[in-house]
Amino acid sequence: MTTATSTGPDAVAARVDEVRARIARACAASGRRPADVQLVAVSKTHPPAAAQAMVDAGVADLGENRVRELLDKRPHVTGARWHFVGQLQSRKARDVVGAQVLVHSVDRRSLADALSRRAGDAGAVQRILVQVNVGDDPAKGGCDVDGCLDLVAYARDLPNLAVEGLMTVPPLPPGHADGDVDEDEGWGEAARPHFARLRRLRDDARARWPEVVHLSMGMSADLEVAIAEGATMVRVGTALFGPRGDSAWTSHR
Ligand SMILES: *Cc1c(COP(=O)(O)O)cnc(C)c1O
Repeated sequence: MTTATSTGPDAVAARVDEVRARIARACAASGRRPADVQLVAVSKTHPPAAAQAMVDAGVADLGENRVRELLDKRPHVTGARWHFVGQLQSRKARDVVGAQVLVHSVDRRSLADALSRRAGDAGAVQRILVQVNVGDDPAKGGCDVDGCLDLVAYARDLPNLAVEGLMTVPPLPPGHADGDVDEDEGWGEAARPHFARLRRLRDDARARWPEVVHLSMGMSADLEVAIAEGATMVRVGTALFGPRGDSAWTSHR
């Protein structure tokens, strides 16, 4: 029997179809094109075989939120484009530069400095998004709303960074724990003002700097609302991979 957690190719393909259908419906409802919403499959805690199955099912953009896990997993998966979506210490900048196409979580000058310096060492330009804590949630990373445009201006002046947009993780609705996905209407609606706020910030930034286009927002429970509010990237874990384990996957288990 197929369950939400099974990892066989048919089960993976079915979940991919379902998420793509949700994206298509949300786009249709707001007059947008599905091609304008990139799907990033967040593979954190899941083993390389699950990540590979996702790539083989046609979702090549994979997201990780821990450096160690990204570095451990990456050699075991072929054909993936890696995204880093977690909080990042500046001293680990060297480990992520060149390891992925996009860092979604730049939230301070010191981290922008470190990434640009390391990208320079590697002779590369690192694509980044600036993460904004739109809900002012102490449990979430991200710069303050008030500091967002300053940080974008600062980062885009650094020689080896390309700032392509903004990212946010809204606060969990009251009464919900992390990983406790509930696809009811209320969940997404609670996030809507935060998504709308990020979009206004992006519009302000883009008016000055046309390359600041992306809005990385929306996860398993609220991707429809995020798309209605203009998301250009949704980061989906549970709805694609099934429930997560408690800890990072590691090759040393
Ligand atoms: C885990 C994670 C996601 C995916 O969350 P789901 O609710 O499982 O879809 C998205 N973005 C970030 C930053 C995450 O850490």
